[in-house]
Amino acid sequence: MKLPAIPPYKTKVVEPVYFRTKEERRAKIQEVNYNLFNIHSDWVIIDLMTDSGTGAMSEQQWAEIMLGDESYAGSESYFKLLRSVQDILGFEFLAPTHQGRAAENILFSATVKEGDVIPGNAHFDTTKGHIEFRKAKAIDCTIAEAFDTALEHPFKGNIDLEKLEATILQYGKEHIPFINITVTCNTVGGQPVSLANIQDTCALAKRYGIPVYMDIARYAENAYFIKTREAAYADWSIRDIVKAMFKEAEVVWMSSKKDGLVNIGGFIALNDPELYEKLGQYTIIYEGFLTYGGMSGRAMGALAVGLQEGVDFHYLEDRVMQVQYLGEQLKKHGIPIQEPVGGHALYIDAKRMLPQIPQTQYPAQLLAVEAYIEGGVRGVEIGTLLADRDPETGKDRMAEMELLRLAIPRRVYSRSHMDYVAATMAKVAARSHELENGFNIKRQAKILRHFTVELERAKSTQKEASSLLV
Ligand SMILES: *Cc1c(COP(=O)(O)O)cnc(C)c1O
Repeated sequence: MKLPAIPPYKTKVVEPVYFRTKEERRAKIQEVNYNLFNIHSDWVIIDLMTDSGTGAMSEQQWAEIMLGDESYAGSESYFKLLRSVQDILGFEFLAPTHQGRAAENILFSATVKEGDVIPGNAHFDTTKGHIEFRKAKAIDCTIAEAFDTALEHPFKGNIDLEKLEATILQYGKEHIPFINITVTCNTVGGQPVSLANIQDTCALAKRYGIPVYMDIARYAENAYFIKTREAAYADWSIRDIVKAMFKEAEVVWMSSKKDGLVNIGGFIALNDPELYEKLGQYTIIYEGFLTYGGMSGRAMGALAVGLQEGVDFHYLEDRVMQVQYLGEQLKKHGIPIQEPVGGHALYIDAKRMLPQIPQTQYPAQLLAVEAYIEGGVRGVEIGTLLADRDPETGKDRMAEMELLRLAIPRRVYSRSHMDYVAATMAKVAARSHELENGFNIKRQAKILRHFTVELERAKSTQKEASSLLV
């Protein structure tokens, strides 16, 4: 008999979970206008709002916190981080930043100008934001398979090379400062990119003399998928796969809050001394001196260790298997999810689970609110509320998919917590047909409304319609 796989860590410090009744949660969520961002964390039992910065650090990382060198310039913690980046990612120069979007701000300040075009697989929203803020365009060249939730494909984050080449020819290589590959592709559900696709994309880019930059927030999870799904690399170590992934990339940037296994931080890594020097000017005005760039010494030390732990095969296997496990449990309960399950989150299809709720009443938000009321599980709506309004017409942009995302923090929850989440969703599913109304918006901000929106329960359109008939 094969022994079961177990987490490669045990617990030393615990954090309490507070329990409240369903009635208390029902009153609380109404009090905060049905916006889960307004809930204090001690009113949440299992917090799956994001996997960003929510992971648990190891004893070695906490030890580095004590060893943090807070010198303004030339901190030893910076050199520890530099050595980890050189060792694992294979780049010579390092520009630390306070988080991923700050890396984007610095890198794009130096490389993107008005009228430019940045093709790639589906850009993350802050990436797109930083491109569009500079009056440049992000062109999504992800393979079409990525947008069919029921279709099985091992690498739904892949770039469609024909689309990419057509984009290059349409806009002209002089308007394309770089091609952007995001691993894993967060926007399409944490879906991986194959090594073959990375290599083919780099080869195509090289033919046109365009550099490739990579957004590597979840690069280690991507490497795990390459090892387990791409036959040619089954016997490779995660570290060798990581090196191969970045071999042809000119620049990588990272939100360390994901696979860096820390609560805050980010960086840019590269080999070109001229570009590094150019970035330095922006680092100094936006972030801080070159050897800390918005991070404390202790945070850099913890990241230096987190990068090493993040490429450990046993850690990665446990991490990805936990996400897959929750997917299996949800499917057993008949909950419709996006497939295949990606590296960091589950996406529940609210259109299939609540077909009676019109999109104008935000069915995925209703699912998020009901999951919170039922079991204190906090996820996040990825649907029409998030898609926001068309800036020209002011009307809602109906999202293609209405999803409830459950993102799993790293090294935080156990298998029994996952069973609890699945049971919560099963209870919501069992009474889903009784849910007649979604929400109407009471108040909303001009942009990025989902963070602060105030909602109220919509009145039943069906009942209104039938009372009109009488
Ligand atoms: C989180 C993330 C970012 C932005 O990083 P922050 O640390 O949240 O600022 C950029 N790209 C990807 C793919 C991400 O997942």
